[in-house]
Amino acid sequence: MGTAVESKLLSFSGARRLVEQYALTLTPTHPEMLSLLESLGRVLAEDLRADRDFPPFPRSTRDGFAVRAMDVKSPPAQLRCVGEIKAGAAHEASALSVGRSDCVEIMTGAPVPRGADAVVMVEFTERSGDAVVIHRTVSAGENVVSQGSEARRDQVLVARGTRVNHALIAIAAAVGRPEIEVFRQPRVAILATGDEVVDVNLHPGPNEIRNSNSYSLAAQVQAAGGEPMILPVARDEADEIALLLRKGLDADLLLITGGVSMGKYDLVEQVLASFGASLFFTGAEIQPGRPVVFGEVKTDERHTPLFGLPGNPVSTMVTFQLFARPVLDALSGAQPQALTFAQARLKSEITTRTGLTRFLPAKLAGTQDQPEVELLKWQGSGDLMAVSRANCYIVIPPDRERFAAGEAITILLP
Ligand code: AMP
Ligand code: MG
Repeated sequence: MGTAVESKLLSFSGARRLVEQYALTLTPTHPEMLSLLESLGRVLAEDLRADRDFPPFPRSTRDGFAVRAMDVKSPPAQLRCVGEIKAGAAHEASALSVGRSDCVEIMTGAPVPRGADAVVMVEFTERSGDAVVIHRTVSAGENVVSQGSEARRDQVLVARGTRVNHALIAIAAAVGRPEIEVFRQPRVAILATGDEVVDVNLHPGPNEIRNSNSYSLAAQVQAAGGEPMILPVARDEADEIALLLRKGLDADLLLITGGVSMGKYDLVEQVLASFGASLFFTGAEIQPGRPVVFGEVKTDERHTPLFGLPGNPVSTMVTFQLFARPVLDALSGAQPQALTFAQARLKSEITTRTGLTRFLPAKLAGTQDQPEVELLKWQGSGDLMAVSRANCYIVIPPDRERFAAGEAITILLP
């Protein structure tokens, strides 16, 4: 083998942009119909439309009395109660009408009767028999959601390409759709490499370590809506990597971990070159994860996008989130999600070297008024225990070497 691979090192933003642009060229998997709860986490393959106006009738948002606002302009106002409407009571609503100095007792969720244009909350009224005293003014439209004001019949409520969450499921239920059309889950092959790496159900020798990356990646893939397929661990031998890589190319996306650094036995790029892979970048100016590789292999019928993620467990996790996630989103039929950055006050000083964009495991805590973020102590990008205590990454731009305690700093949320 020994094919020479040209190295292409990009800045963090350059690498991210390239992945996002590539993602836009991908076609999603085929759609299928699923029941509402089965579709959680999938991506909508159809537009969801309103089957009628929302709300379908002018709806009271309070328990109280439906009135004509003009009748209660100078409280206290004495009105006559001419009936009652509870939620779901279609008949009473159409039979009743509110004339001058009339009111109708009404419940939350009930249709506001003809003639009335507002609802006074029961707290501001006093009733004895049919006589109701109103102690407050209301403006026309107060405590009433008018018919069709949330959405009109046939209006698109949720567009194709939206990830299904609990709110989307609520909308589907509200428009009478027990099943919705969603894209199938893309299949993501996961290939760990390394002579020292043994699977979780084998006993590691004294200088061996267990394969944790295949499992963390599978979990990230699953959480992002993909279907992980874990391949056996490949030893650091070109033929063995090639054999397993060929299997991985049947998937919609291939994730390889380990074997992309500069070591003598880091053979992944060479093997990829022997498959005629196009490598779009072979490194990004980031820490952790600098040796990350992104490319694709074209076979007769298909292109398979692939990532070579560095083997250090934290590097693997970070580079999945930074680069593989948008490709997986696109294959799932979703708009590639932008990374979620926020700002928080730094609890203690940070000093680093310039040159790389750093994503350092951190803990966001503090109070509602004063969110604070702190770097976790870690032993470098192999430190699984540190990352398991983290809930975000502190992002350090390549041109800064010191952040003082109390400064605002950017964080990347999961
Ligand atoms: P590599 O990227 O192959 O140079 O590996 C970098 C570091 O990550 C080494 O310390 C490896 O032992 C470790 N490592 C590689 N693959 C895995 C894996 N699948 N699970 C856990 N650690 C790994
Ligand atoms: Mg290795």
